[in-house]
Amino acid sequence: MTKLRRGQRTIGRTVEYRGSGLFLGQEVLIRLKPQPPNTGVQFQRMDLPGSPPIPASVAYVKDYKRRILLVKDEVEVEGVEHFMASVAGLGIDDILVEITGKEMPAGDGSSLVFMRLIKEAGVVSHDTPRRIFALSGTIALEDGGARIVALPHDDGLELSYNLDFGDKSTLRQSYTLSVTEKTFSQQIAPARTFCLSSGVEEFIRLGLGRGVTEENCFLVNEDGTASTPINRKQAVLRFDDESARHKLLDLLGDLYLTGMELRARVVGTRSGHLLNVLLAKKIFELARAESSLSRIADAKV
Ligand SMILES: [Zn+2]
Repeated sequence: MTKLRRGQRTIGRTVEYRGSGLFLGQEVLIRLKPQPPNTGVQFQRMDLPGSPPIPASVAYVKDYKRRILLVKDEVEVEGVEHFMASVAGLGIDDILVEITGKEMPAGDGSSLVFMRLIKEAGVVSHDTPRRIFALSGTIALEDGGARIVALPHDDGLELSYNLDFGDKSTLRQSYTLSVTEKTFSQQIAPARTFCLSSGVEEFIRLGLGRGVTEENCFLVNEDGTASTPINRKQAVLRFDDESARHKLLDLLGDLYLTGMELRARVVGTRSGHLLNVLLAKKIFELARAESSLSRIADAKV
């Protein structure tokens, strides 16, 4: 069954939030603002001369190691993925994020802070139809032992994730979600970010993780248990399978860098931002090719 195309949505009023990013730890103010149809999701660096905008598009992804970095004309914004998951999950098409620094705030390491902000602002629908892309063929991408497959799917967007760290941890989890506002809000938005305990030293060496607190992320240990990141106490998880759910949150956010509602079934196995972004790029290119074909067809009529 194919859902009817609904109108584009923005938020009802301006809302703001102040917080620090997970990697750089710099405090920033973000201000979410309503936008007219067909403007998409955009960031705007208010701390730089001329307040340059950066569209939340896969075309501007310059790095995807552990987080998403967008760069346009040397202007950067990073750590956007948990915000992108919120706007994808809540079906927001057009929104501006004014930000006073380079990195999006971490909140509690999940999408909750952004979800609550958007819900506080309210949602407004316009008549202009949403941008939708229904996948018609299969796309399969691999990188080392990681794999991501996207398949045609009639009923919205369904995401599955198979978590497996190989010999780095015994933890194995799988999670599947048919994405709606309700399933996103209840099952995925609260899932916090995590890091393998074996990867922490490298993290510190790279000068990252300056915004890490005991609560906004957790470590996955070799024996499959979870610890707090600083005191290394047993972590209290929000879900038994919080890690797999967080990987779905990242996948949802990364795929929304296509700027479209996606109708497909996507299965990730050991995958992360790299394969998510490569898949988003493929879908973005397919959609562009299809729209230029339809423009040619329209011109011939
Ligand atoms: Zn994440």
